[in-house]
Amino acid sequence: MCGIVGYIGKRDVAPLLLEGLQRLEYRGYDSAGVVITGKSGELRTVKAKGRVRELESRIPKRFAGTTGIAHTRWATHGAPSDLNAHPHLDADEKVAVVHNGIIDNASELRIRLSAEGVVFASETDTEVLAHLIARSAAETLEKKVSEALRSVEGTYGIAVLHQDFPGRIVVARNGSPVVLGIGEKEMFVASDVAALVAHTRQVVTLGDGEMATLKADDFRTYTTEGSQTTATPTTVEWEAESYDMGGHDTYMHKEVFEQAEAVDRVLRGRIDDRFATVHLGGLNLDAREARSVRRIKILGCGTSYHAGQIGAGLIEELARIPADAEPASEFRYRNPVVDPDTLYVAVSQSGETYDVLAAVQELKRKGARVLGVVNVVGSAIAREADGGTYVHAGPEVCVVSTKCFTNTVVAFALLALHLGRVRDLSVTDGKRIIEGLRKLPAQIEEILKTEPEIKQLAKAYADARSMLFIGRVRGYPVAREASLKLKEVSYIHAEAYPASELKHGPLALIDPSMPTVAIVPDDDLLEKNRAALEEIKARSGRILAVAHQEQEKADHTIVVPKNEDELDPILMGIPLQLFAYHTALALGRDIDKPRNLAKSVTVE
Ligand code: GLU
Repeated sequence: MCGIVGYIGKRDVAPLLLEGLQRLEYRGYDSAGVVITGKSGELRTVKAKGRVRELESRIPKRFAGTTGIAHTRWATHGAPSDLNAHPHLDADEKVAVVHNGIIDNASELRIRLSAEGVVFASETDTEVLAHLIARSAAETLEKKVSEALRSVEGTYGIAVLHQDFPGRIVVARNGSPVVLGIGEKEMFVASDVAALVAHTRQVVTLGDGEMATLKADDFRTYTTEGSQTTATPTTVEWEAESYDMGGHDTYMHKEVFEQAEAVDRVLRGRIDDRFATVHLGGLNLDAREARSVRRIKILGCGTSYHAGQIGAGLIEELARIPADAEPASEFRYRNPVVDPDTLYVAVSQSGETYDVLAAVQELKRKGARVLGVVNVVGSAIAREADGGTYVHAGPEVCVVSTKCFTNTVVAFALLALHLGRVRDLSVTDGKRIIEGLRKLPAQIEEILKTEPEIKQLAKAYADARSMLFIGRVRGYPVAREASLKLKEVSYIHAEAYPASELKHGPLALIDPSMPTVAIVPDDDLLEKNRAALEEIKARSGRILAVAHQEQEKADHTIVVPKNEDELDPILMGIPLQLFAYHTALALGRDIDKPRNLAKSVTVE
């Protein structure tokens, strides 16, 4: 989950690495470190607990060099501390390693190495790699690294420097992203294109089991066994500016406000008015195959799982195919029954979420057909899947997902419409949904204009210790995602429940100190939802409703524009993103980097 960045070329490396780390800080931020090859070939390391700016303040005045690697950490083994920060070195300080991922057999390896006399300087799993590489008797650095990797089990993206093999960085990947950036007489490596786009748009994404050697004017890729692989650079579409804050105080705010434009992008070029359908080029599913799908199973984690839940609802409504969503993290461990007539859909913003990737690999191994719904082009899940669709949200930097969530749900609406129209959805209904989709960007703009009002509401509710979120059928996954958003960014405990389940338990929680946020669309369940509000009001609960019209029983209503019933869930969560944002702001939280979390969860 961490950030790795490396450079080899002619430029002064430390400022480049620090800038790269800053761009990657959203991937992990409990400590950071850098190692460069100094003037006389020695490795020089600086590490610091805390943010990248902490590291920056510790860099000595004279710290010149043109080769280096750096890391921003999200701890899995050992608390965040100066000592546990990467890079990790061997006792002679000849080998330096930065690592993203987890070495599963680290404790066995530590015991073995300790018995051989190795003294460990940190509590991390990563440090074993530095010792293994240093102790390898192989002749080249490449061979030393691959030999070391043969003894480790787990996931990794690593970058390695060795004092005795100057002028090169060796990198390897298994389960955690590694991207090479190809420049003019300079090469970059990073765990995410975010750190590269300011310097080069030509990238090579390593596959699992692949390694690479970077020299200033050349690179080559090969397998851990040493056989050469072909690496054709691709061009990154995202602009360097999309990673800037663009006048907003936080990335979250910026990304919430980019949603109208992002939705416009996911729709662009895909609508077919003539046949009242959409074209999704990369699905690799012809009409006959689409018709023969019996079930759809959507897998994701966190926000992507919630987007999948809304997606499952859309697919059932529009295509009448039984569909459900499940956390990928659970699915892969319960020995799932894999059915040949089921279409599996894997959802991930980064396309690198480890639990989702592992579920995809397990499904593929069992012969299932898997589609990916992913934001990052060329990412691991996009490559492993049989087909799929990109959600085109653009880069999302804030750890909590907003615009990518919305675009993922819209992508599901497109998939549902497509599947519906090869099955039994009528032309009239197809046209109706298309009209609804086209209205979304303007309606999102309209919702975002109510920010001042939502800000006041957030202040009024920020004193709550806990909040209940309720919704029914289409509204329930909206409630779940909204409660997750509030938890993640404000640290207020929040729980989502189907409104229909209130009297089966959670009503016991209601009192004046426990507010309820209710999703109340103007659909066939409106009266049922109103009854739930009555029940809460009768127990003196405070209610904030998100609805298409003022709700008499609610203390406050955020009124959102009405779309087609099926598409309303896309809009109803948006004011609650702003609600979570302003609650967190009122409480002085670190909005873009909530405690304990990191984006792109590339560890288990
Ligand atoms: N497992 C390693 C550690 O705890 C790497 C974590 C990361 O990916 O940042 O240091």
